[in-house]
Amino acid sequence: MLGFYTMGIRENLAAVREKIFKAAARAGRNPQDIKLVAVTKTIELPEIIEAAKTGVTIFGENRVQEAKEKITEFRAQNTDLKIEWHLIGHLQKNKTKYAVGLFDLIQTIDSPGLAEEVNKQAEKAGKTQRALMQVKISEEATKHGVPEKDMMELAYRISGMNNLKLEGLMTMTPYFEDAEKARPYFERLREIRDEAEKRGFKLPELSMGMSHDFDIAVEEGATMVRVGTAIFGERG
Ligand SMILES: *Cc1c(COP(=O)(O)O)cnc(C)c1O
Repeated sequence: MLGFYTMGIRENLAAVREKIFKAAARAGRNPQDIKLVAVTKTIELPEIIEAAKTGVTIFGENRVQEAKEKITEFRAQNTDLKIEWHLIGHLQKNKTKYAVGLFDLIQTIDSPGLAEEVNKQAEKAGKTQRALMQVKISEEATKHGVPEKDMMELAYRISGMNNLKLEGLMTMTPYFEDAEKARPYFERLREIRDEAEKRGFKLPELSMGMSHDFDIAVEEGATMVRVGTAIFGERG
């Protein structure tokens, strides 16, 4: 496993893509339906650009301030690389204005108050902000995320907001040495999404799975996997 992480970005990406491909095949899914979000917290711009040159089109950042520096620099470089930036970390209300200016997709809407604020800032910016709702399936995994029981109510409220477009659900699972143990959480997120779709919400995206378990997430229906370490190596 360690050897795998110490190869170059290009080799790591090839291995990650192959794993996605194989997991999709096992599940009878089209691998084209799975988007790779390369997680670049603590990773510097030159490595991000290297990944973009091998065809990565989506990058995920955790913190607004860190992302702001990289995105600003990336835009200033005027490359012809077409990439998207996603916010995958918790968003504080006082940072929503920056987040709306920086991110194509905010994956971490987790309260009515935050949704309102993002909608308001998006309206000011003349933008429709694409977003996912972060759902908390387990208590121990993360302090953030909407509890399952409140998910439908929040989806309903967002459906009344003109400048916020909810495209799906995201979740963080606890870390398990045995990645198979994450499977029930991925299954549950998919079930929650299916229940919401029965009620008329359109939520095609399921963002779930990280370096050590993204293949299992793909088997369970992930349309976005968020992978950092398996591409860029262990974070220092
Ligand atoms: C860091 C992070 C990831 C990627 O984790 P790796 O184990 O390095 O792949 C995915 N999602 C979120 C929300 C993260 O914070």
